[in-house]
Order: sequence, then C-alpha cells, then structure tokens
Amino acid sequence: RMKTAAAPIRDVLRQIYGRLSQLGEGKVADYIPELAQANPNDFGISLCTVDGQTIEVGDCQKMFTIQSASKPFTYGLAIEDHGCEAVLQKIGVEPTGEAFNSIVLDETSNRPFNPMVNAGAIATADLIKGTDYPDRVKRMLATFARYCGREIFVDNAVFLSERTTGHRNRAMAHLMRNFGMVGDKFEESLELYFQQCSLLVHAHDLAVMGATLANGGINPVTQEQAVSTETVKYILSIMLSCGMYDYAGEWAFRVGLPAKSGVGGGIVAVVPGVLGIGLYSPLLDDKGNSRRGVEACIELSRRFGLHALESG
Ligand code: GLU
Repeated sequence: RMKTAAAPIRDVLRQIYGRLSQLGEGKVADYIPELAQANPNDFGISLCTVDGQTIEVGDCQKMFTIQSASKPFTYGLAIEDHGCEAVLQKIGVEPTGEAFNSIVLDETSNRPFNPMVNAGAIATADLIKGTDYPDRVKRMLATFARYCGREIFVDNAVFLSERTTGHRNRAMAHLMRNFGMVGDKFEESLELYFQQCSLLVHAHDLAVMGATLANGGINPVTQEQAVSTETVKYILSIMLSCGMYDYAGEWAFRVGLPAKSGVGGGIVAVVPGVLGIGLYSPLLDDKGNSRRGVEACIELSRRFGLHALESG
C-alpha cells in the first residue's frame, strides 16, 4: 500500500491543503482564554513514514497543546505499568457515543467506559506509576519524549487554567474515588492529567508519534522503543473505536484509521505498517474535532486507499 513516491504525495497534500485552507467553518475552543487565542488560519498536514521520511505542508512547526490527543499514549503507559487485564479492571473499552466530558460510569462495574473520555483518561493518569508525584510526571513526560523524539514541555498558562477551571473533571475524579476506581492519590492524578493535556506539540510531532505506533512502537526517526509492540495493538484498537469523540463511528466508517483528536486542534492518525499523520487546525466542528483535520483525513484515506478495512 502507498507505493507512490514522495513527490506525487506532496502534490496531493498541496491540493488538499489549498482547498481546505479556504474552509473557514468551525470555531476555536474557548473554554479557557489561552485556547481562544489560537490563530484560526493556522493549518498543517504532516506525514511521517515508518522509515522516518517526512512529507508536510503548512504550519507543521506551530505549537499548540495536545489536549485529548495525549490520551492513547498515557493509556499505553498504564498498560505497560500494570498489564492489560489489570487496566481493564479499572477502565472499560466500550465506545460511549456521548460527549468526551460526560459524567457517566458503567452501572454494573462503576468503570469509566473507555480511556478516551475524560473520566477514563483521569483513571488512566491514576495508574501511571512513580515513586512520588514528581516522578510520575517525569515518567509521563519521558514517554511523550520517546514518541516525539525530543524533549516535551508543559504550557504552564494552559495547565494553570485547566486546573482552576476543571471543576467537571474534578467532580468525575471524586465520583470515581467514591467507587474506588481511583486511589487515594487521585488529586495528584488529576494534576497529572491537566499537565498531560497541556503538553506543547506541533503537527510534525503528532506525525512522528503516529508513525511510532505505525512502526510497532519504535520511533522511526530515533529508533527508540517508545512502547512495546504488544501494547500498540491495544492503543490502536481503542483509537479506532473511541478516538474521535462522538464522531468515532462515522470516522471509522469514512476514514477507517485509528486516530485521536484534541480540542487544541490536533489530530494524530495511524496507518499501521505505513505512516503516521499529524494535523493541526484549531477550527473545531460541533463535536470538538478539527474541521479541516477531519476533512483532510477523509480525503487522504480516499485518495491513497488507506481505509484499514478496505481490501484489494
Ligand atoms: N483539557 C480538556 C478537558 O479535560 C481536554 C479536552 C479535549 O481535548 O477533549 O476538558
């Protein structure tokens, strides 16, 4: 698949970029003032192949906060820290069809439905091991650094805003504490979650992160193992079923690729064995997904035949 050479691929990217740049629809996230400052014109599409080649157009070095696009990667870390079965005891793997911030737990098990909704992501953060809180933060940051192939930093203004305005997330953490789904360090885990959402990345980083998952967990640029090959399949399946908020079903249908979006305007998508896709455009649709990012992926999938369930 995708035997096309780099030059024609770049031409297709330019066409998609040119057309979608005109698309002014959508709205920048504004639940905290820091995100509302994003430039609505910024737009970048980056591809990174499993042999480490980059093909990109637009604003691929423009920093933004990773937000929910971080969730699959910390889920992977939780699985490596505890094993898949232990993580399943605390966090389900069922799509909700509900908004990312819904305050709903599975009635029979009291678990959050999946690690891509906020409740599940907070429970995931709670599973990140470490000798103390700073060590847990360090391990989280080191994980993202392995995926990106560079040191990764928290946007402090976004982090502080997330934590002062995060009453809903705090409420979910308390609810889960009530049910014993998070431990007595859950307030630190909530801080860890806010920090994880506030990590600064660009579209190129997301492409390399996606390419690392496409490449069995080995970063194709640095050759460093970011996550075990076995864990990759769990990460990718949850991305395919739950990665795009309450658009996940239609995304799987139209695009057919494991992906995760965040309200910062980023999307990371994975073509297993082939490449990672990183997108950035802060204009969001009413589900919270990057409007241009979704359109670009629909077109990339169609033009290059990337749908995972397509044969021939
Ligand atoms: N920090 C945001 C929250 O927890 C993340 C939102 C998102 O990207 O879905 O509400």
